[in-house]
Amino acid sequence: MTDPSVPPQKHPVADPPQPTANWALFLDLDGTLLDIAPAPDAVAVPEGLVEDLGAVSRALHGALAIVSGRPLGEVDRLLAPLKIPAAGEHGAVIRLPNGVCEEMDGKIPPEWVEALLAASVRMPGVLIERKAHSVVAHYRGAPNHEDELRQIASRLAGSVPEHFEVLEAKMAFEIRSRDITKGRAVERLMQCEPFRGRMPVFVGDDVTDHDGFRAAEAMGGLAVDVFQRFAGRPKEVRDWLKQVARV
Ligand SMILES: [Mg+2]
Repeated sequence: MTDPSVPPQKHPVADPPQPTANWALFLDLDGTLLDIAPAPDAVAVPEGLVEDLGAVSRALHGALAIVSGRPLGEVDRLLAPLKIPAAGEHGAVIRLPNGVCEEMDGKIPPEWVEALLAASVRMPGVLIERKAHSVVAHYRGAPNHEDELRQIASRLAGSVPEHFEVLEAKMAFEIRSRDITKGRAVERLMQCEPFRGRMPVFVGDDVTDHDGFRAAEAMGGLAVDVFQRFAGRPKEVRDWLKQVARV
């Protein structure tokens, strides 16, 4: 018998993992720590999150990193004054624990961005977001244009398939270099103190996080899917961080 007071779950839900002091923790931002907003610039940073992240970073002796699809500058602006190791644009730019930033090659040809911008003029509600190493076509404001946008993005990326791919994100298509992934960001940071020798744990909610999941698991760590372990609720991830801060 099912309990009518419990809403049906889309994903099987298991308890969140029990934090330990030897973790190196990698956290996605949107949809993991922050509730998804109608547009990327409309997210709200809940009160206390920045302080809690600072406490987690201290508890793990600095082995905490944010791994986001956003540019690093945006990550820093959202989490100010916190400035911890971080990867922006899915690993295209990585700030190491010593503060040095490393940048990957793999820029999107500017004419592709122009083509998407030109197409978006005919598709009210579609938002084209330029990043240094990718371009995102958001259709949250115009779901009827999903198929047309997918075709355009696939045609552009498909012209150089060995180097570029289209990611189907939440209500968005992102063209990015195949060489830039969140997994690479995990691998790079795990080479550095104080991450080195710890157990990588990657928490994320979206398709780009799967590269981070694979990298963490390949190094004997944990993949923590926000849907499976936190019922898809960033609020529950934020509450769990308070536990991590007490290890
Ligand atoms: Mg996310």
